[in-house]
Amino acid sequence: MTQRGKCSSIAIGLLCMSMPGCAGAFLGAGEFFGSLGDGLTSAGTCLSPLAPIDLNAVFAEAPAVDWVDGVAEVTDAPQPEVIAFLSGQLGQDVRPVDYLSLRLYELGSLAKGEVIEIEPLGDVVAWVSLYDRDYTLIPGGSVRDFDGRLRVLQIPITRDTASVYLRLDLGVLSERNEPIARLARLQGVTRPTPRQQTVVLHFGGQEAVTFRNGLIAPIRIGAIDNAVVRNTAVEQFRAVYAPYDLIVLTDEDPTPTEPFSVIYIGPSELPLFGYGLAEIADSRNACPDDVALVDANQPAWQLARLFGREVYGQALGMIAAHEMGHLLGLEHVSDPDDLMTGAQCQGAGLNFERMLSRQLRRSPLTLASADLQPWTLGYQDSVAYLTDILGPAPNPSAHE
Ligand SMILES: [Zn+2]
Repeated sequence: MTQRGKCSSIAIGLLCMSMPGCAGAFLGAGEFFGSLGDGLTSAGTCLSPLAPIDLNAVFAEAPAVDWVDGVAEVTDAPQPEVIAFLSGQLGQDVRPVDYLSLRLYELGSLAKGEVIEIEPLGDVVAWVSLYDRDYTLIPGGSVRDFDGRLRVLQIPITRDTASVYLRLDLGVLSERNEPIARLARLQGVTRPTPRQQTVVLHFGGQEAVTFRNGLIAPIRIGAIDNAVVRNTAVEQFRAVYAPYDLIVLTDEDPTPTEPFSVIYIGPSELPLFGYGLAEIADSRNACPDDVALVDANQPAWQLARLFGREVYGQALGMIAAHEMGHLLGLEHVSDPDDLMTGAQCQGAGLNFERMLSRQLRRSPLTLASADLQPWTLGYQDSVAYLTDILGPAPNPSAHE
C-alpha cells in the first residue's frame, strides 16, 4: 500500500486518554479502554444501559442563546441543573472537575438548509455537536486538527426543527462566565454532498501502524493467512455497508488511486486492551484516509476460533465494521444490538449470535463517564447519518 496523504483538518479522537477533563464523546473513537472493548457480549455481567432518561426534562434546562442578526455568543456558565440530572442518572455525585464538561444551549427554531457556524474562542471547547428533532445527534466534530490548530466548524441543519440544541464538550473546565464560542446562522451555504468512500481491509500484516494523533506508539500487526477467515471477514463487512456508497477492497486489490482508509486486521504485537481501535471518530468523514486496527490476538479470539474459521472471520469483520463506523464519524451507542454499541462487558462467555446480528440503526447515544459507566443523552441515527455522509449505494442495474 502507498503512504497515505496528510489530512490536516481532522478531529483528535483519542484525546481522552490523556485528558481526564474532557467529556465522553472522545471515547467514541477508541477501544483503548478495555471496558469499551467491541463486539463481544458476555453473558451475565454486561452492564446494561441506564434506564431511559427524560430528555425533555434535561434539554429544558438548556439556556437559550440570544441571536442578534444571526450571530450569538455562548459562555461557559455552570449548568447545575444538567449536572444534577446527570448525578441522578449515575446514582452518585458528579464532580465537574473530574470529567463533566458538557454544556447545552438551545438555538431555537432552525430550517432545513441553514448552516450553523461555530467558532471556538480560547482553549475551552473541544468537541461540538447539535441535537436535531427528537434529540437526534447531528455530529459536528473536534475544534482542533492534528496540528492543534483551532478550526471553525459548519454544521448543516438537515431538517426543519423547532428547537435545535447545541452541545459543547469542554476540554477544560473554566466556568469563568466568559464567551467560549461564537455562533452564526448562515444562509445559502452549499451543503456538503454525500461522498463515496473507499476502505481497504488489510490482512497482510504491517510493520508499524501509526495513528496520526500520536497517542499510541507504532504497532506491529501480523498477517492473517487463512483465506476462509479473510473472505468471511470481508463478506461480513460488505454486508453491513451494502446500503451505502462505500467501496470495500482488500490489500490484494490494486492500490486505489483515490484517498482511502485502511483497517489493519491481524494479531497485534502489543495488547490493545480491546478488539479494535480507530484513529478518530472522524465527524462527517472530514478525512478520507483514516486508520483503524482490529486485533486478532485478543484472548477471547482463542474461543472464537473454536467456533470455526467462518465465525472467527465474521467476528473480525463485525469489529472492522464497527471501527469503520468510527472512521465515518459514528460514536458509541448503548443499544447492545447496535453495531456501534459501547456497552461494557466483563467476564467469560461469548455470544457470537448476537454479535453477528448487530445492525446500524437509531439508538441511544452513549456518553462514558469517568468510571466508564454508560449514560445516554439523545440518539444517534446511524442509517440517516451514513446515508447523508456517503450516499446510498449506486443501483447496479443503473449502470447496465
Ligand atoms: Zn468503538
